[in-house]
Amino acid sequence: MSSLISMAYLFAAVLFIQSLSGLSAHETAKRGNIYGMAGMAIAIIATIFSDSVVAYGWLFFAVIIGAAIGLVLAKRVEMTEMPQLVAMLHSFVGLAAVLIGWAGYIDPRMHLTGAEFVIHSTELYLGVFIGAITLSGSIVAFGKLHGIISGAPMLLPMRHWLNLGIIVLTLLLGFGFVSGEHAGADTFYLVVMTLIALFLGVHLVAAIGGADMPVVVSMLNSYSGWAASATGFMLGNDLLIITGALVGSSGAVLSYLMCKGMNRSFISVIMGGFGTDTGEVLHGGDEDHPDPIATSAEEVADDLAMADSVIITPGYGMAVAHAQMAVSELTENLRKKGKTVRFGIHPVAGRLPGHMNVLLAEASVPYDVVLEMDEINDDFPETDIVLVIGANDTVNPDAVEKPDCAIGGMPVLEVWKAKRVIVSKRSMASGYAGVANPLFIKENTRMLFGDAKDSVQEILKHIDD
Ligand code: NDP
Repeated sequence: MSSLISMAYLFAAVLFIQSLSGLSAHETAKRGNIYGMAGMAIAIIATIFSDSVVAYGWLFFAVIIGAAIGLVLAKRVEMTEMPQLVAMLHSFVGLAAVLIGWAGYIDPRMHLTGAEFVIHSTELYLGVFIGAITLSGSIVAFGKLHGIISGAPMLLPMRHWLNLGIIVLTLLLGFGFVSGEHAGADTFYLVVMTLIALFLGVHLVAAIGGADMPVVVSMLNSYSGWAASATGFMLGNDLLIITGALVGSSGAVLSYLMCKGMNRSFISVIMGGFGTDTGEVLHGGDEDHPDPIATSAEEVADDLAMADSVIITPGYGMAVAHAQMAVSELTENLRKKGKTVRFGIHPVAGRLPGHMNVLLAEASVPYDVVLEMDEINDDFPETDIVLVIGANDTVNPDAVEKPDCAIGGMPVLEVWKAKRVIVSKRSMASGYAGVANPLFIKENTRMLFGDAKDSVQEILKHIDD
């Protein structure tokens, strides 16, 4: 039986690898998801039949409750709330690692000695440490993304020294715990380390500002993978080790790619302190800040009728307004009239990596007109009209022109270089990073105020008049 289970685990691991590779491109993403689901189903069934499972009643109960909660959450969650859900799920992985670590410590059957004791204690200590950071860090990330906790960086005095002190203390406690020389004191070491790790998770994520949150989400994804891997070592479960390592390393690669996309170093993101919560707004009315020029759906329809080339740059507001279907319809309409319509997607547009791509795919926008920022950024000067649909930070010229602002240095879609820019949003409010956007008052910009879905539908009405 055990060799059958090992084979099932191996097969599940191969499916997980196939899943990751499928998820790396739009065309194969659905297939990737199916591989992932099949792998997980095989993994769960194999685990149920393994020798280590004895309490079937409890397991049945847990699976039913877990599946019911998962089903309700997945059905109810709005696409814009996915990052919060993901952060919450990461916190569960962290909690599982802490609980399993503690259970392994309390388990009276664990009478190990010599090298075995050292290895088991090290796995356990590391598992609880990473798990506790993931748990509390993910809860804070959930609070920030959900708007319950302020998005501004919360910085403790001398925080870098504090971090260093925590690391040194954790190492010292770890040596004490693993050496097992201080009989009776090991519970104290584990309790103190768990509390310190919980504090570290809160403190690390609280210090990170809104502009860097995308990286934090994927970094916590990576932590949750390593926590799962550590749990796999504690339980002697090969599949959990492999799956955890896959999640951990893919999360780390994604974090690196996002840092590159935002031109930030990984270390400076982890150190925190970037971003603002002031929600700056340009008021206009003076020479430096002229009033924005408003337009109407009818005028935009006329502008589009004259244009040959159009680029649409969607952002978080398109997701909030559920405007993707209307945007897709507009795209089809303009393409039928012989105009070149393409999309420019910023790597951190929306609230989670790939957010815009998923919405556009759902609305059946052809993949070949959806381009990444690097592929389209040089084309703006030759473009007649850019339609900015609910994007803000990702099209902010200050990122390029004002290096000292919160998003300074982050590469952005250089939409302002187009002949005409039409911005569809409800007000002059700033985006997630809280930075004012001078794009709205540029001479070639027209503001189409209102909900993005209503505005695009209104344009569609006028376009064939
Ligand atoms: P932003 O958050 O910068 O701006 C979105 C804009 O959408 C707002 O200014 C808002 O303006 C507008 N909006 C909201 N609702 C509507 C509506 N119904 N109709 C029309 N407009 C609407 O979005 P971007 O996509 O440009 O940038 C993403 C930001 O989120 C970046 O700062 C990024 O760092 C951050 N982030 C990204 C994550 C990721 O992984 N992609 C994760 C977490 C954060 P108004 O209120 O005036 O309508």
